[in-house]
Amino acid sequence: MNHASKNTIAENIKSIRSQVAAAEKKYGRQPGSVQLLAVSKTRPIEDVEAAFAEHQCHFGENYLQDALPKIAAISDSAITWHFIGPIQSNKTRQIAENFDWVHGIERLNIAQRLNEQRDPTIKPLNVCIQVNSSNETSKSGVSFAEAIELAKSIHLLPNLHLRGLMTIPAATNDFEQQRQPFRLLRELKDKIHSQGIKLDTLSMGMSNDMEAAIAEGSTLVRIGTAIFGQRN
Ligand SMILES: *Cc1c(COP(=O)(O)O)cnc(C)c1O
Repeated sequence: MNHASKNTIAENIKSIRSQVAAAEKKYGRQPGSVQLLAVSKTRPIEDVEAAFAEHQCHFGENYLQDALPKIAAISDSAITWHFIGPIQSNKTRQIAENFDWVHGIERLNIAQRLNEQRDPTIKPLNVCIQVNSSNETSKSGVSFAEAIELAKSIHLLPNLHLRGLMTIPAATNDFEQQRQPFRLLRELKDKIHSQGIKLDTLSMGMSNDMEAAIAEGSTLVRIGTAIFGQRN
């Protein structure tokens, strides 16, 4: 595997941190209000270790079989693992047992399974509902109306903690166009909030649209390429 060197990863993390801080300042966001999630999918354990050495503590993984060996190898309680990929129902048990966060909830039955399979004696599993913010049939995520209904149901599940909304908009390089779906997601979060369901997370922004997401209120950016280099 062609992966970034330890030094490159360290430099990239410093650079992303300063870009996040600059965007917080530019758009009137509180310093430190945007969390950096390092997306380590497909990357070897050494890359996660290199990032952890820079005090990067939140990691995102998409593929369960790829993630489990890394979680086992780096069983440091300082690391928070986020499952950000599509969820098959036969994988929910291992996700509930090994992760702290799940970002891609699109169906109530998946949420119910995670709720049943999460050990009730540990902290609830943090979850976000994945919303289709670009109105494309090919993109994953629920509609805005479905998200409100799903939020009401998930809110009642005791072993899950509904934290907020996640989206992956259609890719574009136009900054104003990038902002639009993120703005819609923020408005949806406010709407759900006004119905009595407290949400504190907007999981939005990747390497190519991080600044637009922060401008629109992102609280967590999911960054892979800009930290670890291009994936094969
Ligand atoms: C791969 C992935 C990312 C990271 O994307 P980059 O463009 O590499 O920063 C973020 N979120 C999700 C859900 C992903 O699958």
